[in-house]
Amino acid sequence: MSLIVDEEEKLRIQNELSVHYKAILELLGEDSEREGLLKTPHRVAKAMQFLTKGYSEDPEEVLRSAMFQEEDYKQMVIVKDIDFFSLCEHHMLPFFGKAHIAYIPKKYITGLSKIPRVVDIFARRLQIQERLTMQIKDCIQRTLDPLGVMVVIEAQHMCMQMRGVEKQNSLTTTSDFTGFFQQAKTREEFMNLIKHQR
Ligand SMILES: [Zn+2]
Repeated sequence: MSLIVDEEEKLRIQNELSVHYKAILELLGEDSEREGLLKTPHRVAKAMQFLTKGYSEDPEEVLRSAMFQEEDYKQMVIVKDIDFFSLCEHHMLPFFGKAHIAYIPKKYITGLSKIPRVVDIFARRLQIQERLTMQIKDCIQRTLDPLGVMVVIEAQHMCMQMRGVEKQNSLTTTSDFTGFFQQAKTREEFMNLIKHQR
């Protein structure tokens, strides 16, 4: 029942977005009635709904759905090179790259495939890279309560590259951590493991 209502609501919003995108095309000097653009407002509306669908998903629930007790494993669990695509909240232009995540379990472990899903959920919202990094860290810390968690994100920002503000191909790196990762040695171990083979 509520699923049908959600689907109806999604379509209603899609139509409303399309009206606005049509107006935007015209304000940008385009002829919104020309053939190539006829369906564009609707396509953009759908694309934007997809790219921001993280708002309606619960990342903690995703982690909990595959959480199990594991008392003995106290080594670093690492998921590296997680591709992500997000939109910067200042320009609504893409920023994208790779996330690398490590945690040291205390009592709970989660399915490895759940970590990239958490990245996706936070990335599919309007973001800034620093907050994306922090939110992933906080989510894992709150849900799995590990001895420590560390998140490193490397990204390219189209709002800088396309507008020529910064060097092309420049990477912005952010990191955040808790617990055992406050020790430089633990951080180093993780950083060495995610180093690129260039
Ligand atoms: Zn931006």
